[in-house]
Amino acid sequence: MAKVQLPKKLKVGGLIYDVILEKFSNDSKLDGFHSNPDLKIKINNLDMFDPHYLMEVFVHETVHAIDNVYNSCDLEENTIILIAKALYWFILNNKFSVNDSKIPTKLLVGTVVYKIEYPCDFRNYSIESPSFTFLPSELILKISRYSQDIKYHIDKINILILEAFLLMLNSEYNLKDHKDFEELNKRTFAHGIHQVLKDNNLEKVIRSVK
Ligand SMILES: [Zn+2]
Repeated sequence: MAKVQLPKKLKVGGLIYDVILEKFSNDSKLDGFHSNPDLKIKINNLDMFDPHYLMEVFVHETVHAIDNVYNSCDLEENTIILIAKALYWFILNNKFSVNDSKIPTKLLVGTVVYKIEYPCDFRNYSIESPSFTFLPSELILKISRYSQDIKYHIDKINILILEAFLLMLNSEYNLKDHKDFEELNKRTFAHGIHQVLKDNNLEKVIRSVK
């Protein structure tokens, strides 16, 4: 069986899912599922599966669970596929971490490298309500330059970065045509991703794939 280390439990909002990694089918098309009523995430562990692929399946089912808890299961399968793939590579390719009090200087999303600019002289923006704007290939975080202690506000800033990540997918994957994605509350979903990454130490899990 392919070697990946997955957590046995996954905390998503107030729900605790059981994560089960086992060979439950010989069909390589049935690679995983997420079940709401009994809170189970099952990953089919076939010998032929590459560890990266298995981890992608796990992230995919995790995004289903986030959609369940934070978005009333309103996302369609195609949108979940894109968000999960992008999130998986976003974590593998970037130094971004919800457990780090440093803001990265750049982000790779899909094929675009975004330079991150902060703090800026936006005197009107307070650290309590940071926001952001996009320029081509640039993400400007509007955080007051007078905020000395970014580490006390890093959760807010990281949620903002995750919200920006979701919006970056718009241009990269042309998600504008997906009505479910358009209607998605990106801030709330970013909260969900942040909570799940942080409470389950998922970045470490994902980066453990060799
Ligand atoms: Zn799915």
